[in-house]
Amino acid sequence: MKLHIKSILYITLCCLCAQLTYAQEELNVYSARKEALIKPLLDQFAASHNVKVNLVTGKADALIERLNNEGKHSPADVLITVDAGRLHRAKQAELLQPITDASILALAPVQYRDPDGYWLGLSMRARAIIFDPTSVKVEDLSTYENLVDTKWKNRICIRSSNNIYNQSLVASFIAHHGIEKTQGWANKFVQNFARKPQGGDRDQVKAVAAGQCDIAIVNSYYLGNMMKGSEEEQAAAAKVKLFWPNQNDRGTHVNISGIGITKNAKNTAPAQELIKFLYTEKSQAWYADVNLEFPVIEGVASNSILENWGAFKADTLNLSQLGELNATAVQVMDKAKWR
Ligand code: FE
Repeated sequence: MKLHIKSILYITLCCLCAQLTYAQEELNVYSARKEALIKPLLDQFAASHNVKVNLVTGKADALIERLNNEGKHSPADVLITVDAGRLHRAKQAELLQPITDASILALAPVQYRDPDGYWLGLSMRARAIIFDPTSVKVEDLSTYENLVDTKWKNRICIRSSNNIYNQSLVASFIAHHGIEKTQGWANKFVQNFARKPQGGDRDQVKAVAAGQCDIAIVNSYYLGNMMKGSEEEQAAAAKVKLFWPNQNDRGTHVNISGIGITKNAKNTAPAQELIKFLYTEKSQAWYADVNLEFPVIEGVASNSILENWGAFKADTLNLSQLGELNATAVQVMDKAKWR
């Protein structure tokens, strides 16, 4: 009899386990954010929501192409990128679906989400001016527009025009000033370069620190990461200062890392849960602490490095404009011979 009860218990437990295993939801994430800068958050989500999260990382364009090739059979449920331009590209290629739940849409400030709900900005990044305080007076800095002044001749470092951050910066110019004025600006701006565009944003900071140029335009989190990086990076970061441009007009150019639910997503419920999770105070503070990006929601405890840089006015341009004007921005940069 004892054995019989044991067997029944065992079978019941097995059935329960099988059901639980069967019930565990899955979520497939395609991410252009590096694994180190998204997996810890996905792991927390997986544990707290009992969801099995499968992560595929890669370059945004490669992931977009993969989604396109996979079509209906794509396992991907969400696409995460590090700029609004690529999310717009995925929307244009009909690879995303609109989010219709108003409570989810409301999580992102209106300027940081697609007007049709196809993607939402999760963290904000700002493109700042970095300068050498031994050769540049802070009073001489004001706007991106003013960097065409002849006083900056051969003094500016910036990465190449094939970089999406620069394309988005130029797209924001077009949105504010129109193509003609932007072209005039780009033509002159290129004349002030200290060297042929090369390297990433960290390399621009290093070039300013090494005296190869006096100012550079970089996303602020690169400087922040250098401040807590290797000895060599910390030494370079200590030699430069950060300036927020355009504080008396449109505000500093910003971009977002963001997320969209794929058109053929099979797991939309956990996808929506993930989005909600990424807007919690804890997740938002993580972006600030780990990668020195800015939270997109109010009331998140600030990070000491971010606090030292001070509050700044960010451009309120709807970031879907960056995607819409991307091709035109690339043409403008080509014409200006911005390599
Ligand atoms: Fe980056």
